[in-house]
Amino acid sequence: MYDYIIVGSGFFGSVCARELTDRGFKCLVLEKRNHIGGNCHTEKVDGINMHTYGPHIFHTSNERVWKWINQFATFNHFTNRPIANYKGELFALPFNMWTFNQLWGVTHPHEAKAIIAEQSKEIGEPQNLEEQAIKLVGRDVYEKLIKGYTSKQWMKPPNELPKEIIKRLPVRFTYDTNYFNDPYQGIPIGGYTQIFDQLLAGIEVQLETDYLADKLAWDAKARNIIFTGPIDAYYDYQFGPLEYKTTRFEHKKLTDTDNYQGVPVMNYTDAETPYTRIIEYKHFEFGQTDTTCITYEYPEPYVAKVTEPYYPVNDQENNAIFGQYKALADAEANVYFGGRLAEYKYYDMHQIIERAFDLLDQLNAGQA
Ligand code: FAD
Repeated sequence: MYDYIIVGSGFFGSVCARELTDRGFKCLVLEKRNHIGGNCHTEKVDGINMHTYGPHIFHTSNERVWKWINQFATFNHFTNRPIANYKGELFALPFNMWTFNQLWGVTHPHEAKAIIAEQSKEIGEPQNLEEQAIKLVGRDVYEKLIKGYTSKQWMKPPNELPKEIIKRLPVRFTYDTNYFNDPYQGIPIGGYTQIFDQLLAGIEVQLETDYLADKLAWDAKARNIIFTGPIDAYYDYQFGPLEYKTTRFEHKKLTDTDNYQGVPVMNYTDAETPYTRIIEYKHFEFGQTDTTCITYEYPEPYVAKVTEPYYPVNDQENNAIFGQYKALADAEANVYFGGRLAEYKYYDMHQIIERAFDLLDQLNAGQA
């Protein structure tokens, strides 16, 4: 009999498995995929750590989380400074004084503010995402850097999308191109998989095992379940499937160049280019290999049970469905739901670790 069966070996499941094992509980981790690490899994290809499910940059303001993660890897000083490519014109992201200089030739913050104020005047009370974006950053930024990218990501024109999707847009009137505001940021040298290898060391893990395919049998073997998979799947979609945004990753190895784009993340912000971003992994670790690996990201329609759920669509309709599932989850005894799929919320890695710590505190308090 296990004290805990933990479903999913992403950050939520692996943090719980490590900490509970260290507290003396007998744990079993079940993982549907053929590898551990969830969406943070990395794989070495010709000396380059590829991020299988999209680029993952660790950043946090939480010192406890930063110290904790640094036990398992050495982090480099990588700072995320993505670039937007609009039909061959390059712009700095997030929107900052470099972006405004590239767009309008202005050099001082008051000049940029004046242009944005002038351009946003055309909008009264915003009725949709397009109007909301123009209100926040003006028409030029919207047309070149938001419109095409957003329509590709959501597969709908921005004037048909709800304005609530964009509540704020990060706009900086400084020349700071660091994408994140957190004091701690970096990439684990050698990739993320080593972190999961250590988190799960000495713990029984069963790969290629779908807990839901044999739920009753697994439940009979454990006193408690920690479930980090999709909450709608747990309840057999009885209130309908929750919607996600999903992406197809097309990985390519290039042998004719050692440096394809000179930056790890380049966003293609026009509507015509079918992919949203190209990622070149070697730059995350300042790689010196003779070849390089890149990934094209193509947004795709989400089909429950068929495509991978990546980003929850937290609109009113889906949140209402989630609320119904959550009511069932809250009433469960000895089943704990955690992580981005079970909580139906987009979390970054550091937030998932915090959420796992919270659950562990709760379990500790209950069992003390
Ligand atoms: P997951 O990593 O998804 O793990 C859940 C695991 O459960 C999966 O391995 C799944 O196979 C398994 N599972 C599900 N159902 C079952 C079942 N029935 N039986 C057995 N196993 C099951 N965060 C950052 O901090 N920085 C970034 O730069 C960043 N970039 C991202 C880019 C993309 C494209 C995406 C999608 C996310 C990004 N994130 C980033 C977020 C990060 O991936 C998540 O915070 C993190 O992976 C969530 O961990 P998790 O354990 O909740 O879920």
